[in-house]
Amino acid sequence: MNLVFKRKLPIPQEIKEMYPISEEGRLAKEKNDKEIREIFEGKSDKFILIIGPCSADREDAVMDYLHKLKGVYEKVKDVLCIIPRIYTNKPRTNGSGYKGMLHQPSLNDEENMLKGLIAIRKLHMRALNETGFSCADEMLYPENHRYLSDLLSYVAVGARSSEDQQHRMTASGLNIPAGMKNPTSGDLNVMMNSIKAGQMSHEFIYRGWEVESKGNPLCHAILRGSVNKKGVSIPNYHYEDLIYCYEKYMEAKLQNPAVIVDCNHANSNKQYLEQIRIAKEVMHSIKHNEQIRSIVKGLMIESYLVDGKQKEDGNVYGQSVTDPCLGWEKTEKLILELADIRRDLLKK
Ligand code: PEP
Ligand code: MN
Repeated sequence: MNLVFKRKLPIPQEIKEMYPISEEGRLAKEKNDKEIREIFEGKSDKFILIIGPCSADREDAVMDYLHKLKGVYEKVKDVLCIIPRIYTNKPRTNGSGYKGMLHQPSLNDEENMLKGLIAIRKLHMRALNETGFSCADEMLYPENHRYLSDLLSYVAVGARSSEDQQHRMTASGLNIPAGMKNPTSGDLNVMMNSIKAGQMSHEFIYRGWEVESKGNPLCHAILRGSVNKKGVSIPNYHYEDLIYCYEKYMEAKLQNPAVIVDCNHANSNKQYLEQIRIAKEVMHSIKHNEQIRSIVKGLMIESYLVDGKQKEDGNVYGQSVTDPCLGWEKTEKLILELADIRRDLLKK
Protein backbone atom coordinates (compact mmCIF):
# COMPACT_ATOMS: atom_id res chain seq x y z
CA MET A 1 0.00 0.00 0.00
CA ASN A 2 1.09 3.55 -0.45
CA LEU A 3 -0.73 4.72 2.68
CA VAL A 4 1.11 6.72 5.32
CA PHE A 5 -0.27 5.79 8.74
CA LYS A 6 0.07 9.24 10.31
CA ARG A 7 -1.31 8.57 13.80
CA LYS A 8 -3.82 6.37 15.61
CA LEU A 9 -7.03 8.22 16.35
CA PRO A 10 -9.08 7.90 19.56
CA ILE A 11 -11.92 5.42 19.33
CA PRO A 12 -15.52 6.71 19.60
CA GLN A 13 -15.76 5.74 23.28
CA GLU A 14 -12.68 7.84 24.09
CA ILE A 15 -13.99 10.89 22.24
CA LYS A 16 -17.37 10.43 23.94
CA GLU A 17 -15.65 10.34 27.34
CA MET A 18 -13.74 13.51 26.49
CA TYR A 19 -16.93 15.27 25.35
CA PRO A 20 -19.84 13.58 27.13
CA ILE A 21 -23.47 14.35 26.42
CA SER A 22 -25.38 16.09 29.25
CA GLU A 23 -28.33 14.40 30.94
CA GLU A 24 -30.55 17.15 29.58
CA GLY A 25 -29.22 16.53 26.08
CA ARG A 26 -29.80 12.80 26.41
CA LEU A 27 -33.41 13.37 27.40
CA ALA A 28 -33.96 15.87 24.57
CA LYS A 29 -32.69 13.37 22.01
CA GLU A 30 -34.84 10.62 23.50
CA LYS A 31 -37.91 12.86 23.14
CA ASN A 32 -37.01 13.83 19.56
CA ASP A 33 -36.34 10.20 18.62
CA LYS A 34 -39.74 9.17 19.91
CA GLU A 35 -41.53 11.93 18.03
CA ILE A 36 -39.70 11.07 14.80
CA ARG A 37 -40.26 7.33 15.21
CA GLU A 38 -44.00 7.85 15.61
CA ILE A 39 -44.12 9.74 12.32
CA PHE A 40 -42.35 6.94 10.46
CA GLU A 41 -44.58 4.35 12.12
CA GLY A 42 -47.69 6.25 11.06
CA LYS A 43 -48.75 7.00 14.65
CA SER A 44 -48.31 10.77 14.26
CA ASP A 45 -49.38 12.96 11.37
CA LYS A 46 -46.72 15.60 11.89
CA PHE A 47 -44.70 16.34 8.78
CA ILE A 48 -40.89 16.22 8.81
CA LEU A 49 -38.58 18.92 7.51
CA ILE A 50 -34.94 17.92 7.31
CA ILE A 51 -33.54 21.34 6.72
CA GLY A 52 -30.23 23.15 6.88
CA PRO A 53 -27.06 23.86 4.96
CA CYS A 54 -25.61 21.44 2.44
CA SER A 55 -22.47 21.43 4.57
CA ALA A 56 -21.80 22.68 8.11
CA ASP A 57 -18.72 24.74 7.33
CA ARG A 58 -18.34 26.80 10.52
CA GLU A 59 -19.71 26.48 14.02
CA ASP A 60 -20.70 30.13 14.54
CA ALA A 61 -22.81 30.44 11.38
CA VAL A 62 -24.43 27.01 11.85
CA MET A 63 -25.37 27.86 15.45
CA ASP A 64 -26.72 31.21 14.34
CA TYR A 65 -28.86 29.37 11.76
CA LEU A 66 -30.06 26.83 14.33
CA HIS A 67 -31.18 29.50 16.76
CA LYS A 68 -33.24 31.14 14.02
CA LEU A 69 -34.67 27.74 13.11
CA LYS A 70 -35.57 27.13 16.74
CA GLY A 71 -37.49 30.43 16.75
CA VAL A 72 -39.63 29.48 13.76
CA TYR A 73 -40.01 25.89 15.01
CA GLU A 74 -41.84 27.22 18.05
CA LYS A 75 -44.52 28.59 15.68
CA VAL A 76 -44.99 25.40 13.65
CA LYS A 77 -44.37 22.54 16.05
CA ASP A 78 -48.07 21.66 16.18
CA VAL A 79 -47.78 20.25 12.64
CA LEU A 80 -44.09 20.10 11.69
CA CYS A 81 -41.17 18.13 13.08
CA ILE A 82 -37.91 19.88 12.25
CA ILE A 83 -34.68 17.92 12.03
CA PRO A 84 -31.83 20.29 11.21
CA ARG A 85 -29.18 19.19 8.77
CA ILE A 86 -25.72 19.40 10.29
CA TYR A 87 -23.77 17.69 7.54
CA THR A 88 -20.20 17.33 8.68
CA ASN A 89 -18.79 15.10 5.94
CA LYS A 90 -19.41 15.58 2.25
CA PRO A 91 -19.19 13.12 -0.63
CA ARG A 92 -17.53 14.74 -3.63
CA THR A 93 -18.55 13.89 -7.17
CA ASN A 94 -15.02 13.90 -8.60
CA GLY A 95 -13.03 13.66 -5.38
CA SER A 96 -11.88 17.27 -5.20
CA GLY A 97 -13.22 20.16 -3.10
CA TYR A 98 -14.33 20.64 0.51
CA LYS A 99 -14.93 17.29 2.24
CA GLY A 100 -16.59 18.81 5.28
CA MET A 101 -15.75 19.77 8.85
CA LEU A 102 -14.61 16.24 9.65
CA HIS A 103 -11.71 16.63 7.23
CA GLN A 104 -11.19 20.35 7.62
CA PRO A 105 -12.46 21.72 10.92
CA SER A 106 -11.71 25.24 9.81
CA LEU A 107 -11.87 26.32 6.19
CA ASN A 108 -8.66 28.30 6.45
CA ASP A 109 -6.70 25.45 8.00
CA GLU A 110 -5.10 22.28 6.71
CA GLU A 111 -6.93 18.95 6.85
CA ASN A 112 -6.79 17.47 10.36
CA MET A 113 -8.98 14.47 11.19
CA LEU A 114 -8.40 14.50 14.96
CA LYS A 115 -9.44 18.12 15.21
CA GLY A 116 -12.25 17.29 12.78
CA LEU A 117 -13.66 14.47 14.92
CA ILE A 118 -13.66 16.77 17.93
CA ALA A 119 -15.13 19.71 15.99
CA ILE A 120 -18.07 17.72 14.62
CA ARG A 121 -18.86 16.22 18.02
CA LYS A 122 -18.72 19.64 19.66
CA LEU A 123 -20.98 21.17 17.00
CA HIS A 124 -23.64 18.45 17.26
CA MET A 125 -23.40 18.70 21.05
CA ARG A 126 -23.78 22.47 21.04
CA ALA A 127 -26.81 22.13 18.79
CA LEU A 128 -28.45 19.72 21.22
CA ASN A 129 -27.55 21.67 24.36
CA GLU A 130 -28.51 25.12 23.10
CA THR A 131 -31.53 24.36 20.93
CA GLY A 132 -32.75 20.88 21.95
CA PHE A 133 -32.41 19.73 18.34
CA SER A 134 -30.76 16.36 17.80
CA CYS A 135 -29.86 16.63 14.15
CA ALA A 136 -29.35 14.82 10.86
CA ASP A 137 -26.00 14.07 9.27
CA GLU A 138 -24.98 12.03 6.27
CA MET A 139 -23.53 8.63 7.16
CA LEU A 140 -20.77 8.92 4.59
CA TYR A 141 -18.28 6.83 6.58
CA PRO A 142 -20.18 4.06 8.42
CA GLU A 143 -17.18 3.40 10.70
CA ASN A 144 -17.49 6.93 12.09
CA HIS A 145 -21.13 6.74 13.10
CA ARG A 146 -20.38 5.93 16.73
CA TYR A 147 -18.52 9.21 17.23
CA LEU A 148 -21.94 10.88 17.00
CA SER A 149 -24.39 8.04 17.75
CA ASP A 150 -25.65 9.56 21.02
CA LEU A 151 -26.33 12.91 19.31
CA LEU A 152 -27.98 12.18 15.97
CA SER A 153 -31.68 11.62 15.38
CA TYR A 154 -31.46 10.90 11.66
CA VAL A 155 -28.92 9.77 9.08
CA ALA A 156 -29.03 9.81 5.33
CA VAL A 157 -27.15 7.31 3.20
CA GLY A 158 -26.16 9.38 0.17
CA ALA A 159 -26.87 8.77 -3.49
CA ARG A 160 -23.31 7.59 -4.05
CA SER A 161 -23.42 5.20 -1.06
CA SER A 162 -26.84 3.57 -0.99
CA GLU A 163 -25.71 0.65 -3.15
CA ASP A 164 -22.81 -0.09 -0.82
CA GLN A 165 -22.99 -3.13 1.46
CA GLN A 166 -21.17 -1.65 4.45
CA HIS A 167 -23.53 1.33 4.47
CA ARG A 168 -26.56 -0.92 4.25
CA MET A 169 -25.39 -3.26 7.01
CA THR A 170 -24.46 -0.39 9.30
CA ALA A 171 -27.85 1.23 8.69
CA SER A 172 -29.42 -2.09 9.73
CA GLY A 173 -27.79 -1.69 13.14
CA LEU A 174 -29.08 1.80 13.92
CA ASN A 175 -32.05 2.67 16.10
CA ILE A 176 -32.79 5.97 14.35
CA PRO A 177 -34.29 6.45 10.86
CA ALA A 178 -31.85 5.97 8.01
CA GLY A 179 -32.91 7.53 4.70
CA MET A 180 -31.57 5.63 1.69
CA LYS A 181 -31.26 7.96 -1.27
CA ASN A 182 -31.99 6.85 -4.79
CA PRO A 183 -28.67 6.43 -6.63
CA THR A 184 -27.50 9.13 -9.03
CA SER A 185 -28.66 6.86 -11.90
CA GLY A 186 -32.21 7.15 -10.54
CA ASP A 187 -32.93 3.40 -10.45
CA LEU A 188 -35.50 3.00 -7.68
CA ASN A 189 -34.80 -0.75 -7.50
CA VAL A 190 -31.39 0.06 -6.05
CA MET A 191 -33.00 2.27 -3.42
CA MET A 192 -35.68 -0.30 -2.57
CA ASN A 193 -32.99 -2.99 -2.27
CA SER A 194 -31.06 -0.71 0.01
CA ILE A 195 -34.09 -0.24 2.26
CA LYS A 196 -34.71 -3.99 2.24
CA ALA A 197 -31.10 -4.70 3.21
CA GLY A 198 -31.24 -2.05 5.93
CA GLN A 199 -34.37 -3.58 7.43
CA MET A 200 -32.76 -7.04 7.64
CA SER A 201 -30.47 -8.38 10.29
CA HIS A 202 -26.83 -9.01 9.32
CA GLU A 203 -23.62 -10.39 10.73
CA PHE A 204 -20.58 -8.42 9.63
CA ILE A 205 -17.33 -6.73 10.63
CA TYR A 206 -17.61 -3.29 12.21
CA ARG A 207 -14.68 -1.38 13.69
CA GLY A 208 -12.68 -4.59 14.08
CA TRP A 209 -15.54 -6.48 15.74
CA GLU A 210 -17.71 -9.32 14.54
CA VAL A 211 -21.17 -7.86 15.08
CA GLU A 212 -24.81 -8.72 14.57
CA SER A 213 -27.43 -6.13 13.67
CA LYS A 214 -31.11 -6.51 14.42
CA GLY A 215 -32.40 -4.78 11.26
CA ASN A 216 -33.71 -1.24 11.19
CA PRO A 217 -37.47 -0.95 10.53
CA LEU A 218 -37.02 2.81 10.11
CA CYS A 219 -34.90 2.54 6.93
CA HIS A 220 -36.82 4.43 4.24
CA ALA A 221 -36.56 6.20 0.88
CA ILE A 222 -35.24 9.62 -0.07
CA LEU A 223 -36.01 10.78 -3.61
CA ARG A 224 -33.32 13.22 -4.80
CA GLY A 225 -33.69 13.09 -8.60
CA SER A 226 -31.12 11.59 -10.95
CA VAL A 227 -28.86 12.41 -13.84
CA ASN A 228 -28.98 10.75 -17.24
CA LYS A 229 -25.99 9.59 -19.26
CA LYS A 230 -25.49 13.08 -20.60
CA GLY A 231 -25.45 14.56 -17.12
CA VAL A 232 -28.92 16.13 -17.43
CA SER A 233 -30.95 16.24 -14.19
CA ILE A 234 -34.15 14.19 -14.13
CA PRO A 235 -36.47 15.04 -11.23
CA ASN A 236 -38.41 12.37 -9.33
CA TYR A 237 -40.66 14.45 -7.07
CA HIS A 238 -43.63 14.79 -9.44
CA TYR A 239 -47.04 13.22 -8.82
CA GLU A 240 -46.36 10.23 -11.11
CA ASP A 241 -42.97 9.61 -9.49
CA LEU A 242 -44.54 9.49 -6.03
CA ILE A 243 -47.24 7.08 -7.22
CA TYR A 244 -44.54 4.92 -8.80
CA CYS A 245 -42.60 4.94 -5.55
CA TYR A 246 -45.76 3.95 -3.66
CA GLU A 247 -46.23 1.00 -6.05
CA LYS A 248 -42.59 -0.05 -5.58
CA TYR A 249 -43.12 0.02 -1.83
CA MET A 250 -46.28 -2.09 -2.05
CA GLU A 251 -44.47 -4.67 -4.21
CA ALA A 252 -41.52 -4.82 -1.84
CA LYS A 253 -43.61 -5.38 1.30
CA LEU A 254 -41.31 -3.44 3.60
CA GLN A 255 -41.94 -2.16 7.11
CA ASN A 256 -43.02 1.47 7.61
CA PRO A 257 -43.19 2.61 3.98
CA ALA A 258 -41.92 6.18 3.99
CA VAL A 259 -40.50 8.73 1.58
CA ILE A 260 -38.66 11.97 2.18
CA VAL A 261 -38.53 14.18 -0.91
CA ASP A 262 -35.23 16.02 -1.30
CA CYS A 263 -36.13 19.34 -2.93
CA ASN A 264 -32.58 20.22 -4.03
CA HIS A 265 -29.84 18.19 -5.76
CA ALA A 266 -31.00 16.62 -9.05
CA ASN A 267 -34.63 17.43 -8.21
CA SER A 268 -34.00 21.17 -8.48
CA ASN A 269 -30.97 20.79 -10.77
CA LYS A 270 -29.37 22.76 -7.90
CA GLN A 271 -31.54 25.77 -8.83
CA TYR A 272 -32.03 26.35 -5.13
CA LEU A 273 -34.93 28.77 -5.46
CA GLU A 274 -36.93 26.02 -7.15
CA GLN A 275 -37.04 24.24 -3.79
CA ILE A 276 -39.93 26.52 -2.82
CA ARG A 277 -42.02 25.44 -5.80
CA ILE A 278 -41.01 21.78 -5.47
CA ALA A 279 -41.91 21.67 -1.76
CA LYS A 280 -45.34 23.13 -2.54
CA GLU A 281 -45.90 20.79 -5.45
CA VAL A 282 -45.22 17.80 -3.20
CA MET A 283 -47.67 19.20 -0.63
CA HIS A 284 -50.23 19.48 -3.40
CA SER A 285 -49.68 15.84 -4.45
CA ILE A 286 -50.10 14.79 -0.81
CA LYS A 287 -53.40 16.62 -0.65
CA HIS A 288 -54.58 15.16 -3.92
CA ASN A 289 -53.83 11.49 -3.33
CA GLU A 290 -54.28 9.18 -0.32
CA GLN A 291 -51.52 6.79 -1.36
CA ILE A 292 -49.01 9.60 -1.67
CA ARG A 293 -50.22 11.00 1.63
CA SER A 294 -49.65 7.65 3.29
CA ILE A 295 -45.98 7.41 2.34
CA VAL A 296 -44.59 10.95 2.01
CA LYS A 297 -43.48 11.77 5.54
CA GLY A 298 -41.41 14.84 4.89
CA LEU A 299 -39.14 17.04 2.82
CA MET A 300 -35.43 17.72 2.73
CA ILE A 301 -34.49 21.33 2.03
CA GLU A 302 -31.05 22.89 1.69
CA SER A 303 -31.10 26.23 3.49
CA TYR A 304 -28.63 28.53 5.24
CA LEU A 305 -28.34 32.17 6.27
CA VAL A 306 -27.50 33.63 2.86
CA ASP A 307 -28.94 32.68 -0.56
CA GLY A 308 -26.85 30.67 -3.02
CA LYS A 309 -23.30 29.41 -2.65
CA GLN A 310 -19.85 30.87 -2.13
CA LYS A 311 -17.64 31.82 -5.04
CA GLU A 312 -14.50 29.70 -5.38
CA ASP A 313 -12.46 31.95 -3.05
CA GLY A 314 -15.44 33.45 -1.19
CA ASN A 315 -15.74 33.89 2.55
CA VAL A 316 -19.35 35.00 3.08
CA TYR A 317 -20.63 34.24 6.59
CA GLY A 318 -23.57 31.81 6.42
CA GLN A 319 -23.39 31.12 2.69
CA SER A 320 -23.01 27.54 1.48
CA VAL A 321 -19.58 26.21 0.54
CA THR A 322 -21.08 23.27 -1.34
CA ASP A 323 -24.59 23.15 -2.90
CA PRO A 324 -26.53 26.43 -3.19
CA CYS A 325 -29.05 26.97 -0.38
CA LEU A 326 -32.15 29.06 0.28
CA GLY A 327 -31.30 32.06 2.44
CA TRP A 328 -32.90 32.66 5.84
CA GLU A 329 -35.77 35.01 4.94
CA LYS A 330 -37.04 32.73 2.18
CA THR A 331 -36.58 29.72 4.45
CA GLU A 332 -38.62 31.20 7.27
CA LYS A 333 -41.42 32.18 4.90
CA LEU A 334 -41.43 28.71 3.34
CA ILE A 335 -41.56 26.91 6.69
CA LEU A 336 -44.51 29.05 7.82
CA GLU A 337 -46.31 28.40 4.52
CA LEU A 338 -45.69 24.66 4.70
CA ALA A 339 -47.08 24.61 8.23
CA ASP A 340 -50.24 26.40 7.05
CA ILE A 341 -50.66 23.92 4.18
CA ARG A 342 -50.30 21.05 6.62
CA ARG A 343 -52.78 22.58 9.08
CA ASP A 344 -55.22 22.99 6.24
CA LEU A 345 -54.76 19.33 5.24
CA LEU A 346 -55.29 18.13 8.79
CA LYS A 347 -58.01 20.75 9.38
CA LYS A 348 -56.20 22.06 12.46
C1 PEP B 1 -26.51 16.21 0.26
O1 PEP B 1 -27.54 15.89 0.86
O2 PEP B 1 -25.95 17.30 0.41
C2 PEP B 1 -25.95 15.26 -0.73
C3 PEP B 1 -24.68 15.21 -1.01
O3 PEP B 1 -26.89 14.48 -1.29
P1 PEP B 1 -26.79 13.35 -2.45
O4 PEP B 1 -26.18 12.16 -1.79
O5 PEP B 1 -28.22 13.16 -2.82
O6 PEP B 1 -25.97 13.92 -3.57
MN1 MN C 1 -26.14 19.14 -0.93
